[in-house]
Amino acid sequence: MALYIFGHKIPDSDSIVAALAMAYLKNALGIEAIAVRQGDINPETKFILEKFDLEIPELKTSFANNEVYLTDFSDIAQAPDDIGKATIIGIVDHHKLGDLTTSTPLECWIRPVGCTNTIIKEMFDYYEVEIPKNLAGAMMCAILSDTVIFKSPTCTKLDTKITKELASIAQIEDYKALGLEMFKVKSAVDGTPVRELVMRDYKPFDMNGLKVGIGQLEVVDLSIFDDIKDDLLIDIKALKEEKGLDTVLLLLTDIIKMGSEVLVSSNQEETIEKAFDKKIVDGKFWLDGCLSRKKQVVPVLEPAFA
Ligand code: MG
Ligand code: MG
Ligand code: MG
Repeated sequence: MALYIFGHKIPDSDSIVAALAMAYLKNALGIEAIAVRQGDINPETKFILEKFDLEIPELKTSFANNEVYLTDFSDIAQAPDDIGKATIIGIVDHHKLGDLTTSTPLECWIRPVGCTNTIIKEMFDYYEVEIPKNLAGAMMCAILSDTVIFKSPTCTKLDTKITKELASIAQIEDYKALGLEMFKVKSAVDGTPVRELVMRDYKPFDMNGLKVGIGQLEVVDLSIFDDIKDDLLIDIKALKEEKGLDTVLLLLTDIIKMGSEVLVSSNQEETIEKAFDKKIVDGKFWLDGCLSRKKQVVPVLEPAFA
C-alpha cells in the first residue's frame, strides 16, 4: 500500500515542495510514497516547479483507508474531510500543534523554524540521503517564500544556514535575487478575480468555537491593491456570510516596507481592535512590522477570541 504525502488545503509552495521532498526521501528509504495535493497550486508554486523541472503532484482529496504523511499542517480545518478514516503515519511541520490526533504511534518532526523544508533538509541529512539538484532548488525557494527572504520573524538561523546549503547543492549563487523574482511573480494580481486573490493563501481556523478565516497576499508593493481594495473588502464580507464565518481577515503584506494592511470583516470588531490595539477605519488597519500570520496574527487573535 502506497503512502500518500500531502500538505494543507489551499496549498502553498512549502506544502507542495515538502510533499515532493518527503516522497523522494521515503522512496529513497525503500518506502513507496506518492506526493499529492489537496487543491490547485498558486502562481508562485507553478513558477518554482517549472523553474526546477518538477512534476505537479496529482490532486487527491479523499484518503479513507490510506496511510498518509502530512506536511506543513496538523489542523483538522486544513486536512481532507475524511482524514479521520486515514492512518496518519507521520507529520512534518513548523506551525503550532493542531487538533489532529491519531490512533497509532506516528513519526513527528515538528519544530519552530521558518519552513517545513528546513526540517526536511535535516531529515535528509539524518538519513544520509543525497538531495537531487533540482529538488534542492525548489526546497530552497520554499524556504525563501515562507521566511519572506529571511525577513519574517519566523526565520531562524537554521533556515538561513540550510538555504545556503541547498543553494550550493542547486548551484544557485544569487539566491536572494531568485527569491525576489519569485515574490514578483507572487505579486501579480492583474486580471485575477477578487475571490481568487482572497483565497490564494487562505487558512480556516477554529478559534475556541469561532470560525475564522485569514488570507494573506504578500507583495513587493502594496500600491497594486489601490484599485481593488474596496472590492477585496466587499468580497471578504461576502465570504464571511457565504461560509457562516465569524471573522475574515485579509492581510495585504508589503515585504519591502515590512508591514501588513489588515482588511477586516468580523462580528467582533471591538475584540480585534483591543487585541491589536488598533482602530479599524473603513474596514482596515495597518500593522507595522507584521509579516507572519502564524507568529504575529493567529497568536494575538486566538486568545482574544477565548
Ligand atoms: Mg504553508
Ligand atoms: Mg510552511
Ligand atoms: Mg506563508
